[in-house]
Amino acid sequence: MAILVLSAPLPSAPFAEALRRVAPAMPVWTETDAPDPASVEALLAWRLKPGTVGRYPRLRLVCSVGAGADKLLAAGDLPAGLPLARVVDPVQGRQMAQYALACALAHTRGLDRYAAQQAQAQWLRHPVRQAAQCRVDLLGLGAVGQAIAQAFVAVGYPVTAWSRRPKALPGVASVAGEAGLAALLAASDLLVCALPLTAETQGLLRRETLQRLPRGAYLINLGRGEQLVEDDLRPLLDDGHLAGAALDVFQREPLPEDHWLWRHPAVRVTPHIAAQASFDTVAEQCLAALAAVRAGLPPPHPVDRSAGY
Ligand code: NAP
Repeated sequence: MAILVLSAPLPSAPFAEALRRVAPAMPVWTETDAPDPASVEALLAWRLKPGTVGRYPRLRLVCSVGAGADKLLAAGDLPAGLPLARVVDPVQGRQMAQYALACALAHTRGLDRYAAQQAQAQWLRHPVRQAAQCRVDLLGLGAVGQAIAQAFVAVGYPVTAWSRRPKALPGVASVAGEAGLAALLAASDLLVCALPLTAETQGLLRRETLQRLPRGAYLINLGRGEQLVEDDLRPLLDDGHLAGAALDVFQREPLPEDHWLWRHPAVRVTPHIAAQASFDTVAEQCLAALAAVRAGLPPPHPVDRSAGY
């Protein structure tokens, strides 16, 4: 029995090499091989074309190469009883926290403004914005959200986080539901989105939501591009309602060259690099998920199909 890596558009070789390193006895195939369909026991994948799963009669697991499983669920034809697993990597959580904090500090400590001043050899000091007076609001308090929350708390920011179910996390105010979201948005100085993409979160960051933020708020999105209605952001940036945005994920990736986001002075664009998977961790977690499924147990990090994440 074998694992087939179908990670396109991400290159499959690093995932396959990591699987072979971690489990040398396990046959591992990629899309360039032509494995016997009956030998494929698990798929390690990012997205699947409809009809793919049906080709493998003895398939017992699909594992995402990342934290999110939205692209796998989008195929729409995964059999209901087929276990679906995802990767939960603490190192990736820390990377996401570093990214969010770096963008937040560049904004709140005025680093872009000072870079512009440096270009003019201009010595001009501005008041330091106190972290305690800058409220950070986090959408999503899962594995990634918790790492982000802890990083902001550690440097003195008050943090409130929104999740489906309230959570107890030291130093973090937890809210849930529509009322929780409304209260959070009304008081937010920095809004950080670390939500999975689901039917409920798609388009959540649209004009009517972003307008509820106080004037001068700053947005950081490192969840999924489809959560932000990009064209709704532009008028809010242009009229100063939002001070700026740092975006790592986009509706279309790669972000088209002629997209306005590349050139807007208040937008920081990065090419989906807030965190990068450790190939060995992905391999270890795929193998652990397969071992669990073989033993008749759910994988350690299952995807809840009904919730969509
Ligand atoms: P997770 O552990 O599943 O946590 C998801 C969080 O979102 C949970 O707190 C969940 O609430 C909350 N949530 C989901 N739907 C919600 C809704 N409708 N309303 C309110 N809260 C909701 O996921 P994770 O590991 O933290 O990853 C989050 C996402 O980050 C991934 O799905 C992926 O899209 C993104 N990501 C991006 C990168 C990048 O490089 N940019 C890298 C890794 C991950 P409960 O706690 O109540 O369940």
